[in-house]
Amino acid sequence: MKELSRLVSSIPPSETLAVSDKAKALKAAGRDVVALAGGDPDFDTPDYITAAAFQAIENGATHYPAPMKGITPLLEAIAHKMEVDNGVKLNPGSDIVVTPGGKWSIFLALSAIMNPGDEVLYLEPVWVSYPPMITLAGGTPVAVTLPADDNFRITADRLREKITPRTKALMVNTPNNPTGRVLTQEEYDAIVSVALEYDLYVIADEIYETIIFDGRKHLSLAAAPGMGERTLTINGLSKSHAMTGWRLGWLAGPAPILKLAAQMNGQTVSSAANFTMHAAVAALKGPRDTTRAMTEAYQKRRDFMVPALNAIDGVECMDIEGAFYLFPRFPNSTRTSAELAEALIEKAGIASVPGGAFGKSGEGHVRFTIATAMNDLEKAVDKLAKVAHEL
Ligand code: PMP
Ligand code: GLU
Repeated sequence: MKELSRLVSSIPPSETLAVSDKAKALKAAGRDVVALAGGDPDFDTPDYITAAAFQAIENGATHYPAPMKGITPLLEAIAHKMEVDNGVKLNPGSDIVVTPGGKWSIFLALSAIMNPGDEVLYLEPVWVSYPPMITLAGGTPVAVTLPADDNFRITADRLREKITPRTKALMVNTPNNPTGRVLTQEEYDAIVSVALEYDLYVIADEIYETIIFDGRKHLSLAAAPGMGERTLTINGLSKSHAMTGWRLGWLAGPAPILKLAAQMNGQTVSSAANFTMHAAVAALKGPRDTTRAMTEAYQKRRDFMVPALNAIDGVECMDIEGAFYLFPRFPNSTRTSAELAEALIEKAGIASVPGGAFGKSGEGHVRFTIATAMNDLEKAVDKLAKVAHEL
């Protein structure tokens, strides 16, 4: 047989998806596994959203939608949401594309701006899919390493160190997967000044926007002066409305880039699902109390988990400011993060993601999701306390 794709063979499979599949398979096979691996809310999608989808199906929204890049009421609802929540003014007709999940909007954003040899900076620890997507879109991924012992802080100098004449864009994710960090005003200002100084595009992944703790404020990079014309915002309903399975996200930004993104969407996936888009209109126009209640629950779980993990000998866990992941380390262990994750599942029945999946600086850590019911989290702490000395 002739050789398969070298490009696709060069990227690893998604480890977050692989470990979630593995945890589910072990559970199905009868193993007592606490699944803290894949980041998927344990809450049901709110009823008023599923009702809108059923209604849309009954109304015949089972064919191709029109326009394909997003039905008009949804484009308008997204523009309204981004103006009110994010301070970003968009033209719904030209500045937004609706995608099957936030993940695809990241790939569209990269594809629309990339030429061979262009470098894209990402901040490490990094969500598993950014570097492979940069490669698949024809660019070169370049890591900006953020040290754990400096609270993964972003500074202008750390960014500048990695900039070359080929640097095209910077990817930022706040609230962050896997560190749980939220951009501070100083970090925001540093990113804005570097982007303006070096004429960079910024891909701002705000998918965890609503999951933010202790009254902190989410800062949207597209809202800063001079940033609207260079920022591509990624968002969606997977996390805010517990809708991971509906596959609904969007890309928003400058019209010339969005024109290419819409073209690419049309030539690949065609569109997001029609009735899902109707459900998304209901979600964006509906009450916000369910989203708020989910965030409050995540915050309570964080308040329980962080001290409980730190109370275990051999476990160190930073506090988190948003998203639903903890990123503990095991300072006494000599195991790699892959060995740690393996030992956690074998000895304690806890499924986690090895920190190394998030880049070299994730080594020594594992990622636990707290988008998991409180009684499972309590169980995980008990199990971990029993085996921590063996790790
Ligand atoms: N960005 C980040 C940082 C994520 O963790 C995820 C995973 N859900 C996504 C984007 C993509 O989300 P979706 O499920 O909507 O594709
Ligand atoms: N984003 C989630 C995670 O990091 C879901 C899995 C995925 O899309 O990679 O676990």
